[in-house]
Amino acid sequence: MNRQSPFSYQCNACGRCCRDKVITLSPYDVFMIARAAGVPSAEVVRRFTSRRGSILRFNADGACAALQGTRCGVHRGRPLACRLYPLGLERDFASGVERFVQLDPAPNSAGVYGVGGKVADFLKSQGVPEYLAMNDRYRPLIAIFRNRVNQLVDFEKVEPREFWRRATREALAESAYDANPIIDALFEPGDSVVGHIESLTKLAGENNAGESLAAAAVLLAVSLGYSPSVASEQPQ
Ligand code: SF4
Repeated sequence: MNRQSPFSYQCNACGRCCRDKVITLSPYDVFMIARAAGVPSAEVVRRFTSRRGSILRFNADGACAALQGTRCGVHRGRPLACRLYPLGLERDFASGVERFVQLDPAPNSAGVYGVGGKVADFLKSQGVPEYLAMNDRYRPLIAIFRNRVNQLVDFEKVEPREFWRRATREALAESAYDANPIIDALFEPGDSVVGHIESLTKLAGENNAGESLAAAAVLLAVSLGYSPSVASEQPQ
């Protein structure tokens, strides 16, 4: 599906879609959840996320940590994936080509699918374009991190593919990962997106640990909806 494809969806707030999902979060998602919840981003990471802030947390009973009864407790700042739902979005990093897919309804969902509008109308009604635009602001950091890795690591001596494989494993580890101040900073956006991006750029320039920067580049790429390989391979 593309933005002109027929599509409409009426959410009836049954809460059944807010269970048993894997939802990747971007730094901007954490920023907006913090605003909606009225708490610092560090508390958002503790209360609502796992994998160092990069995944929405679901409780043992399957419910999202932000679900209150059948309502989203952070509705005004709900993440991009929740705004897109029941659509999924795949975007090619290099070409920008995007493709939407319709996801299966949750069991017994009260949501109503239709074809009375277009995908573009639905996206606008959910505030998706703003989220995509804000995510795009973080995109150049992937190249900034990678360029710094290339300054720090001698790939004449270190096998690049194995290096980036290790970085991907480290970035996507659920537990037992190494301390990584850049990843911590990625998911602590503070009060301003512009200020956050500036501070991450500065941090990358000052950091001398190629492995940490590489893992942060991978996790940033994934959090923005791209393949991990974008961190090491794609020109910008
Ligand atoms: S953040 Fe809100 S909309 Fe998204 S899964 Fe959790 S409760 Fe549902």
